[in-house]
Amino acid sequence: MKLLVTGGCGFIGSNFILHIMKKYPDYKIVNLDKLTYAGNPDNLKEIENNPNYSFVKGDICDPSLVHKVMNNVDHVVHFAAESHVDRSIEDGSVFVKTNVLGTHTLLQSALECKIKRFIHISTDEVYGSIESGSFKETDILTPSSPYSSSKAGSDLLAQSYYITYGLPVIITRCTNNFGPYQYPEKLIPLFTTNLLENRKVPIYGTGTNIRDWIYVLDHCKAVDFILHSGIDGEIYNVGGGNEKTNIEITRKILELLGKDESMIEYVKDRQGHDFRYSLDCSKLKEFGWEPEYSFEEALEETVKWYIENKRWWEKLKH
Ligand code: NAD
Repeated sequence: MKLLVTGGCGFIGSNFILHIMKKYPDYKIVNLDKLTYAGNPDNLKEIENNPNYSFVKGDICDPSLVHKVMNNVDHVVHFAAESHVDRSIEDGSVFVKTNVLGTHTLLQSALECKIKRFIHISTDEVYGSIESGSFKETDILTPSSPYSSSKAGSDLLAQSYYITYGLPVIITRCTNNFGPYQYPEKLIPLFTTNLLENRKVPIYGTGTNIRDWIYVLDHCKAVDFILHSGIDGEIYNVGGGNEKTNIEITRKILELLGKDESMIEYVKDRQGHDFRYSLDCSKLKEFGWEPEYSFEEALEETVKWYIENKRWWEKLKH
């Protein structure tokens, strides 16, 4: 397989490339990444000299570059995006550009280059918030933030390329990931690294918002499974089965680092803060994929990784 991975220097993309190169050493991987603040080539140091791996620095919104890169591959896994909700509330313009226009550029090029399978990495946030019950793949999208709205736009564009042109597209909608190489602006790495520096952790509102959490390697394995065995035109919810409030997650991190609740600082709630995300993942389970990692073990491993890789995150924070 000759695989184009977009956003491969980001958190999930780099974990995915490391996973694929380990499991399928004969696959060729091209990583197209713009290296925004969130893209970090250090994540892929261990494979940068592998002859089956190549890196192209560039923007997914650039049609001629995308076409050139796409001409040499047969499958695409599209992770590249602006991904931080708070930044999208400050200024949504780059979110619309990268997430909507960039995805459209990739889809159009995939069609022209006769790509055999295009996996679009979407998110549970496209469904919006749900008080009780869980969203199924057939539910309508009611996103709330500029981030999730731009992801919903790209998700719908991906569907349209399957329906209109027959491009073999598959969409995954995953819940909150955590694990190594996550930029320290997201909850788990931000709180872990703050505490390691003896700084307080900022919790929005009362900390009762609920998210489902999945270990990043489980997400990578789900994408691997869908890349090889999924059905074109389908959408798959991917979740860890670990719904937790933010305060629960915070208490677990405090406990793992031997700190107490005096390290919590309650701050003004995020505008339009979704209360709860929840996915019904029975479709993928029946199809043959389930998460492997227990939340507690994976969180412990993750916190340990940030303790042992201070040099990786320190330069991103200061
Ligand atoms: P990330 O912010 O860590 O990484 C994004 C990567 O995309 C970076 O390497 C960045 O340099 C690159 N990029 C950004 N704009 C680009 C452009 N215009 N051209 C080329 N490259 C560009 O994000 P992540 O957390 O790894 O998320 C990856 C994907 O998974 C995103 O599409 C996100 O919406 C989705 N997702 C993330 C989560 C999560 O919990 N992190 C959950 C569900 C879905």
